[in-house]
Amino acid sequence: AATSAADAVRPLIRTIPDFPKPGIQFRDITTLLADAYGLRAATHGLAELAACHPCDVIAGIEARGFIFGSALAVEVGCGFVPLRKPGKLPVDTIGEDYQLEYGEARLELDPTLIVDGARVLLVDDLLATGGTAVAGARLLRRAGAVVEQALFVIDLPDLPGRGALSAEGVEAHALIAFE
Ligand code: AMP
Repeated sequence: AATSAADAVRPLIRTIPDFPKPGIQFRDITTLLADAYGLRAATHGLAELAACHPCDVIAGIEARGFIFGSALAVEVGCGFVPLRKPGKLPVDTIGEDYQLEYGEARLELDPTLIVDGARVLLVDDLLATGGTAVAGARLLRRAGAVVEQALFVIDLPDLPGRGALSAEGVEAHALIAFE
């Protein structure tokens, strides 16, 4: 059950205080990835969340969304499309700029990878303010995707990510939450 996946995943997340700057509790998933049972539990837990929302393809956000997104794509039997940081894709791209707490960021996509009308499930490791995931959803929609669901390993419910996605017409689901 999703509950047992969450119980397996939670203790494997390492919390680093004051990284990358004072006041931030960084939720480090590398300790989860390095654990065979943890990685499997996270993948199976995401697959259980995904089972309620059939999709044609999974889109993962660079870089940690690539890891969980591709594992999930193999598990549920669909393809994987990367949403990349600027300048990485060797073809014509479309891009979406967004605000980080300090400064700007951008995601890029090869729009020819998206079949018009494809139902795309968006995946990242963690939902905080939602800026990254909202930019990902907008980018995918500009390429013709239908984006209604987003999956995360971790939600930070004290931050407005879920509401920001909801305002964009995207429902967020997460394996675990850290208050
Ligand atoms: P946001 O756009 O604010 O929702 O931030 C989400 C992105 O930033 C994800 O790609 C996360 O990997 C990363 N991120 C934000 N906050 C944290 C945190 N406290 N711990 C680890 N990663 C984070």
